[in-house]
Amino acid sequence: MSDLRMGAALWDDELPQLKVVEKILKLKEERNALILAHNYQSAEIQFVADYVGDTLSLSMLARDAEQPIIVFCGPDFMVETAKILAPDKIVLYANDNARCPMAAMITPEDLRTLKKTHPNAKVVGYINTSAECKCEMDICCASANAVKIVRSLDAEDIIFVPDQNLGSYVRRMVPEKTILIWSGFCSVHHMIHKEDVLDLARAHPRARIIVHPECRPEVVDLAAAVLSTDGMIMYAASSEDREFIVVTELEVVNRMIEDNPDKEFHGIEKAYCRTQKKVKLENVLKSLETLAPEVSLPGDVIERARLPIERMLAVGRAELATQGVKHDT
Ligand code: SF4
Repeated sequence: MSDLRMGAALWDDELPQLKVVEKILKLKEERNALILAHNYQSAEIQFVADYVGDTLSLSMLARDAEQPIIVFCGPDFMVETAKILAPDKIVLYANDNARCPMAAMITPEDLRTLKKTHPNAKVVGYINTSAECKCEMDICCASANAVKIVRSLDAEDIIFVPDQNLGSYVRRMVPEKTILIWSGFCSVHHMIHKEDVLDLARAHPRARIIVHPECRPEVVDLAAAVLSTDGMIMYAASSEDREFIVVTELEVVNRMIEDNPDKEFHGIEKAYCRTQKKVKLENVLKSLETLAPEVSLPGDVIERARLPIERMLAVGRAELATQGVKHDT
């Protein structure tokens, strides 16, 4: 599929939705609020957002924003990460029921136990974790910089949490270290199997395969390039190739189709994150109207959780140059 958006329609019910959009844009100005949306958010949410990007670029935008109010359209851990980096701002969940299943697959208690049993290991935690878990980590990583972060550490033993697939990818790229990997997974990327990608490759033999590192190792093995979501978007725009099989959440494929009308993209139909799609226009409007639900984290959690994020930023600054995509609405 190359000329149509994949998955849900852009607008379910056009006229009422447009009225909600109008109200959101008006209230956003009145409140002096910034709306941030993750790359996996639906098209209508991306439309009302000031910026669309990955977790880290959005958190940095929240930190550096002039606006005192941030409405974050993404799952729980992303909204918390924005608050950790912007503690003096009002950071609002667009929908606090959007809870990432992978972030819930590890607890602070799990991490404390791992640290006791492996006292010489450094703990590297994916940004897709709760604020309380971040308090137990030595350093955070994102999918764009996980390899560089692990290589940068002076420890030989690494505890990598929570994503087993990103952990496996890092282990293969950094064979000189012993990496203990937690068994969590992203329910969207983990359910993509090798045959799903091979079916597409057989149908589109000239297409370049690009894969997110949260996918299973046997899927990663099929990739011409392994990239974060922002990395994929930039790669598709700048590559001289004309046809791509994009192995990540469908909304990224939709975005590529719209941004690159002269190129062809094929996605995995079932790669749809139900968590991210829980954020609806009505939720964004309600957040702006009520200034709730607001992220509320204890001061000591913010302080402790910020440390591993700041360490990551210090190591991975070069990879984190992307600043989301500005949306003029
Ligand atoms: S795609 Fe959905 S399930 Fe996977 S890590 Fe992101 S929010 Fe969590």
